[in-house]
Amino acid sequence: MTELTFTLRENSIDSLNEALDKFQQGQDGNVRALKFSILFTAQFIELLLKQYLISIDPFLVYTKCFREIQKKAKTDKVDIRQAYETLKADGFDFNALVKGDPNPHTVALDDALGFARLEMCSITGGELVDNDFADDISWLKQLRNNIEHFEFTLTAQEVRLCIGRIVRAAIDFCETFSLMDLADEIGKERFHTFEMLADEYTQHRTEAKAEMKRGESDAFRGLRPKEWQFVEWNVYRCDACGEHTMVPDDESATGYKCKMPLCGNEESEDIEVPCDVCGVPCANGDMQYWDEGLPNVCPQCNSHSD
Ligand SMILES: [Zn+2]
Ligand SMILES: [Zn+2]
Repeated sequence: MTELTFTLRENSIDSLNEALDKFQQGQDGNVRALKFSILFTAQFIELLLKQYLISIDPFLVYTKCFREIQKKAKTDKVDIRQAYETLKADGFDFNALVKGDPNPHTVALDDALGFARLEMCSITGGELVDNDFADDISWLKQLRNNIEHFEFTLTAQEVRLCIGRIVRAAIDFCETFSLMDLADEIGKERFHTFEMLADEYTQHRTEAKAEMKRGESDAFRGLRPKEWQFVEWNVYRCDACGEHTMVPDDESATGYKCKMPLCGNEESEDIEVPCDVCGVPCANGDMQYWDEGLPNVCPQCNSHSD
């Protein structure tokens, strides 16, 4: 392993560890920490992509060499990957470009990403061109570039979900190109956070739980204990995703909404409605439809009618 490879690897893991620490703090309600998580995640990805370039050819990571390849791609009207192959086959001396420079400049995230996308296309015949990965990276990059200039207008959840997608894509990326096993590299203290992010469903559940908790404290805020009984706070099973994540929501037509990210369903057979005959609340899935005037009749009243 060259010294640069070693440094990149160490630094990328450090960045990931920092990103995870800040992420956890962000999850615990510190929005400022989330901002730093974005910066460290972007840095982690940048270093990871450089490691990837080095794994193909150590010279690829240097800006001077990369520019030469881009020049060639332009003249030959081919993509940078093909241009690189041609130069290499022609015995082009990349070493001469950086020789004598003790600290040559290395490529930016976009260049590395551009090369990785082409490479991914070629290995998998275009199957694995993970556009979402690239889109998430550009989104994160934009966010990083603007973070100091504009107010944090995104919801904290959007940011957390994006970081989760990037971490999952990075795990796949490391596997595809045999770069390293991230789970083995990160610090023990962050393993819980890493594991949660590594699985999309687990992350979504964590987000749902946090939303539910927030809704519940909002509903009870400022009330005295003897008023608690008047608050209708029920948790129902979502008919769409099957999770017990449906809680009261002011904007929902049914009064309830599932808090799982990407779900947001408002229907559950478990939501209680009052019986149109006796007025006792019952799960709407158990109600019988009698007629237009009595759409919801509870099992009790229904059995008396026989
Ligand atoms: Zn749901
Ligand atoms: Zn009834």
